[in-house]
Amino acid sequence: MKTRSIEVIVPPPAPHYVGDGFRVHNFIPSGYHLDMQRMTPFIMMDYNAKFIFPPSEHPKGVGVHPHRGFETVTLAYKGKVAHHDSAGNSGIIGEGEVQWMTAASGILHKEYHEEAFSKTGGEFQMVQLWVNLPAKDKMSKPKYQGLTRESISKFNLPDNAGVVEVIAGQYKEVKGAASTFSPVHLQNAKLNKGGKADFHFPSHYNTALLVIEGSIKVNENEAVETDHFVLFENDGESFTIEALENAVVLVLSGEPLNEPIAAQGPFVMNTRQEIVQAIDDYNQGKFGYLD
Ligand code: MN
Repeated sequence: MKTRSIEVIVPPPAPHYVGDGFRVHNFIPSGYHLDMQRMTPFIMMDYNAKFIFPPSEHPKGVGVHPHRGFETVTLAYKGKVAHHDSAGNSGIIGEGEVQWMTAASGILHKEYHEEAFSKTGGEFQMVQLWVNLPAKDKMSKPKYQGLTRESISKFNLPDNAGVVEVIAGQYKEVKGAASTFSPVHLQNAKLNKGGKADFHFPSHYNTALLVIEGSIKVNENEAVETDHFVLFENDGESFTIEALENAVVLVLSGEPLNEPIAAQGPFVMNTRQEIVQAIDDYNQGKFGYLD
């Protein structure tokens, strides 16, 4: 198999706030001036790098807002997020947990720091990805997958190198619990210093990684620091990572959807007409109710 080369290593772009609770670096699409097609089916990635929020009596976050046409995937590395949606789902995303919300035909939700975490404050570190849906699934029923630590499968790397946690897709023979609408791999490699892992995805799958903790070497020659994002070329199947110190690396790879994207704010559809329809449906209250 051919080595997949690095297209670019992206340092964290200047952060901005989403609501008052998420201080994020936007890597997809704006971090490397990508368009939303470059990493399809991953059309958005916000990264709240490790940040200490002070204690607050009032939970910080984002109030009620809609989504249609895609999935939001929230990974909590530090701190806790509380979530409520108009389909009646709610929950807490704790450290090491993942929430996979399929907005599809339309949902309202709100995302806040969990109440007890708000009161004490502390280290907060999250990733939110938007995974696009194939055109045929954009108007399917909303759903919700809450992945606890126990439900995330693990591959133990040889030589005490660490583990690969498989959220979606597959690593070696281990399959992830999350169900997806198109082929998506989402994995956390947790490596001990000196530990190595190899990854193999079809070359046409759009592929990237984000260094959550520590620092790594990619393909035995490129050093990548904490909070940096690596976008790979589509020129080979395989890459390797090696931990220069204890490291956590989020790896994402997916089959491109190759469908037109029409996006406006929280709506991502295929045509401008469908965006107009989404705004209209939202204004008419067809996304349900949430206070
Ligand atoms: Mn949202």
